[in-house]
Amino acid sequence: MRIFILSSGEYGSRIVNGLAIHGFAPNIIGIHEFPSKDELSDFIEDVTEYVPSNIPEADLIIAVGMHGDINMVIPPVVKKSGAKSAIAAIYHPQQIPFGLQNEIKSELDDDITIVFPKPFCSLTSVGDEFIDKFTEKFGKPKLIIETNSGSDEIDVNSNIISVNVVRGAPCGATWFVAENIIGIPAKEAEFEANKKHHNFPCQASMATDKQSGDTILHLASYKIKEAVKRAIGFTCRVAMVDPETCEGLEFCDNICLNICPNVAMGVNTIHYGKDGKAIIDPATCGVCEFCIPECPYGVIEVYEERIPVSKEE
Ligand code: SF4
Ligand code: SF4
Repeated sequence: MRIFILSSGEYGSRIVNGLAIHGFAPNIIGIHEFPSKDELSDFIEDVTEYVPSNIPEADLIIAVGMHGDINMVIPPVVKKSGAKSAIAAIYHPQQIPFGLQNEIKSELDDDITIVFPKPFCSLTSVGDEFIDKFTEKFGKPKLIIETNSGSDEIDVNSNIISVNVVRGAPCGATWFVAENIIGIPAKEAEFEANKKHHNFPCQASMATDKQSGDTILHLASYKIKEAVKRAIGFTCRVAMVDPETCEGLEFCDNICLNICPNVAMGVNTIHYGKDGKAIIDPATCGVCEFCIPECPYGVIEVYEERIPVSKEE
């Protein structure tokens, strides 16, 4: 697979390095560096002058770190490269607003697939040949964790002895986390992973994102915590609904569901069971606690105990 990268600023460089270091160097056939966000206006009347003059034939175009109208170079680059697939990663709430995403899509032929993952480490397969090939290695973190537990069911007090990154964040954060949680007790793994993810440091923005009501940095940290929880098969801190007292669909207007940042991003973190009561998925819940004060019946609480988590997504 031949990848041509459109990059800008520190975030763009981080992604280019991450992809190259973690196995995709031979796939990167070219990189075009654009002026940084501070050097370019968000509003550009005509992007023609910014379209690279040398565009190689490519299968996948990846745009990283580009803010505002400069992203309108994506359609001509896709066209000239002959690529059928493109990824424009979002790490800042104002980077590529929905209106601009629609404008980019409208300039592309119908047989082109483009995705706008927010953040890049939320990307999973979408049914497109080249994007899916990319997500075999990069995108939403997936780990295999071994401890000295001595049985298939990992003991909370066992220590982590190995972490294999099956799929990692394109910036490289997942590999950093993997190296740094070896030796710690399984019960602390998700919290330590969260800390290490912030230490990396994750370059996603701390500004509040309108779509989710949370920051993109936090959305990214929920993904690494999910990967750890699924790999060890449990969580030790999660928000849960009391099914006895939840008033469910009938009396509360779905408030918890409407406030959850993961649900806003299309993740099934809160859903309703057959009885209409809310159920929180312990794998994807980031324990942001937004839902707790919103529940009019006060039936959501944080539990600090071993709760099983499905290993399957
Ligand atoms: S807001 Fe509270 S009562 Fe309403 S569905 Fe959610 S948990 Fe149940
Ligand atoms: S604490 Fe509540 S709002 Fe936050 S991720 Fe978990 S279910 Fe969603």
